[in-house]
Amino acid sequence: MLYEPDIAYENDPFVSIGKMSCKCQWCNALKWKDETPGVCCSSGKVQLEALCKPSEPLYSLLLDLHPDHKHFIANIRKYNSAFQMTSFGGKSVSEDGYMPTFKVQGQVYHLIGSLLPEQGQKAKFLQIYFVGEDEREASLRCSVCPNQYLVDEYAKIERLNFIRNNQKKLRADSYVHLMDAIGRQDVDVNQLGQMVVLPSSFIGSPKYMHARTQDAMTYVRYYGRPHLFITFTCNPRWQVIAQQLFPGQKPQDRYDIIARVFRLKVKKLIDLLVKGKIFGVVRCYMYSVEWQKRGLPHVHILLWLTNHIASDSIDNIIWAEIPDPESDPKLYEIVKSNMIHGPCGDINIKSPCMKNNACSKRYPRPLVAETQTGDDGYPQYRRRSPEQGGFTVNIKGVELDNRWVVPFNPVLSRIFNAHLNVEYCNSVKSIKYVCKYVNKGSDQATIALEDGKDEVKSYESGRYISSSEAVWRILSFPIHERFPTCT
Ligand SMILES: [Zn+2]
Ligand SMILES: [Zn+2]
Repeated sequence: MLYEPDIAYENDPFVSIGKMSCKCQWCNALKWKDETPGVCCSSGKVQLEALCKPSEPLYSLLLDLHPDHKHFIANIRKYNSAFQMTSFGGKSVSEDGYMPTFKVQGQVYHLIGSLLPEQGQKAKFLQIYFVGEDEREASLRCSVCPNQYLVDEYAKIERLNFIRNNQKKLRADSYVHLMDAIGRQDVDVNQLGQMVVLPSSFIGSPKYMHARTQDAMTYVRYYGRPHLFITFTCNPRWQVIAQQLFPGQKPQDRYDIIARVFRLKVKKLIDLLVKGKIFGVVRCYMYSVEWQKRGLPHVHILLWLTNHIASDSIDNIIWAEIPDPESDPKLYEIVKSNMIHGPCGDINIKSPCMKNNACSKRYPRPLVAETQTGDDGYPQYRRRSPEQGGFTVNIKGVELDNRWVVPFNPVLSRIFNAHLNVEYCNSVKSIKYVCKYVNKGSDQATIALEDGKDEVKSYESGRYISSSEAVWRILSFPIHERFPTCT
């Protein structure tokens, strides 16, 4: 599809997710039209009892019938924390800055303590009620509440689902590994009894990721190398997200909305590629959802087309240049706010992409007058210098030229207004990148077998759950999809 700056791509009804105005016939939850009927109440299967009238004086305190109403509402979450019986436990990892998120590593547990604090210890949870308010402790715990809650609930669901869904598979897997192990000389037979295997049917486990990489390799055997590699990151500034926030909320307070909107946008993008044939007829595709350090979801898509992209038409599909701010102001603004890398290097040594004093993403890229395709890996896209007529952008007072542009497709960028990187791809390496857990995963499986270790435990201790990922998984959204499915 050739790009025309004057077409209002972003207003096409085909690409809009619409308004959150569809009411569930069973539970009255509001949803977007493309969300599944089950996402709220499993089509009426889950029924919550209506909230009953709170007892006094709670009722008066809540409804402005009590002189302390204002104070109570202002401090309601602190009171709630102070009366909690248990505290949340787990090795939490904080990611501050632009999109703060709550993350834990390893097992999640709950602590319950005595009614009075130990000697020399500060009052915690219920104890605060008995020994007086601990302002700092209470505030600290209130600030992470909703995001912590998501991680806590997901940890419970994951564990229960695992136990419920993998009984047979788990026994079958153990048997195969047991037979493997018995055939080997270096395994202590006495340890085999304690072996716990995390099967490939457990979504996100090392064996699961390994199986997905095998699928990708099957695609390569059948269809050759993929033609395009697309990375699409959720934009927390999207209008559809802002519309759902309550007064005073920020996008990072609502990872539920972020997950639901991003899931719908990913569906739209796949539809645009497959049904809209924006790059031609699609033979097959696969994608994986991942979470950035900062907690935003992104998706890596591999696309195989029926017709190869000729090297002289790459420039129609992929741009790595700043658009003309005069003739195409909309695209210029989108590229300026989403597709300029860093800046890093000498301009900004502290940029997260910097590894060993160099940019791990190889920016700034060289300026070239014409696109050049190499034999392997990524081609060098056209990046004209200001002398050759290339444009520049000013980011935080620094003037940047085309060396800093992350390659994009103008039509997709106009439609999605997000970090949406489109790369022409010649390399099998990119498949490994999509299923990046492959090596780590198979290593873990081997270690587990050799030490007679508990695979569930080692998975649990090695992984991180962020609130953003937790809500995605609670809603049962897929982290990997492919078409056609491998048999
Ligand atoms: Zn419902
Ligand atoms: Zn960099």
